[in-house]
Amino acid sequence: MRQVAIYGKGGIGKSTTTQNTVAALAEAGKQVMVVGCDPKADSTRLLLNGLCQKTVLDTLRDEGDDIELDAILKPGFKKTRCVESGGPEPGVGCAGRGIITSINLLESLGAYTSDLDYVFYDVLGDVVCGGFAMPIREGKAEEIYIVASGELMALYAANNISKGIQKYAHSGKVRLGGIICNSRKVDGEYDMLKAFAQELGSQLIHFVPRDNLVQRAEINKKTVIDYDPTAGQALEYRTLASNIDNNDMFVIPKPMVQDRLEELMMEYGLMEL
Ligand code: ADP
Ligand code: MG
Repeated sequence: MRQVAIYGKGGIGKSTTTQNTVAALAEAGKQVMVVGCDPKADSTRLLLNGLCQKTVLDTLRDEGDDIELDAILKPGFKKTRCVESGGPEPGVGCAGRGIITSINLLESLGAYTSDLDYVFYDVLGDVVCGGFAMPIREGKAEEIYIVASGELMALYAANNISKGIQKYAHSGKVRLGGIICNSRKVDGEYDMLKAFAQELGSQLIHFVPRDNLVQRAEINKKTVIDYDPTAGQALEYRTLASNIDNNDMFVIPKPMVQDRLEELMMEYGLMEL
């Protein structure tokens, strides 16, 4: 079983990319569980066709400790297993604790069955707050992908996340598997992201184009794979899924200093002008 965590700046496309990748893996016959680790609880919506999944924390709050697995784990697209950890009220408590509570509960209820090929954790934001590093810190997720684009804040967050991975990599088995570019149509973006990934000692695992079909599928509460399986964008997600499935490059990243990051952006961003 491979335990994969997807990190990246808020709004960069983690949940969309994760669900489409998971849908592609499920379509290829893989057994996958998705654990949403964002208080927004929108990590499994497209796999569940919009079903409003009750979070683990809400379930614990309402029903106490004595709960059945099927109260928190719902079957989604092609038998994917969907969980939302949920979070505290905004501004109260640490959301990271919710993640670890959920993982522990899933373990005690026997959710990590031996037939699982993958568990994907879709984790909010960057690793500035220790809480969000939980899946890494606790040695749950050993394989990390960072979603980024050619925008400064996305690269800044990706570099910060790399610092977090580097910190925990020395004491554990966590490694960076690659950078996923979710395109924002920035000038020179492909080359920029390739260079960024290489400088970290990693790789650009796939460049996902920006496509309005993603929104159309989202309005219909579906992944692109589910909504329009023959579309070019569905093929992009299948390629990403297969690149992850065949990946054998797992590194301890070498984060950059801020000046170098900005230099890199200038170098590639200005190249096409
Ligand atoms: P995150 O989970 O990182 O906060 P989301 O996955 O919720 O981000 O994505 C934010 C928005 O961007 C969503 O409305 C989604 O439809 C859109 N989006 C994500 N990826 C793409 C893409 N490749 N093309 C077009 N829109 C996208
Ligand atoms: Mg999200």
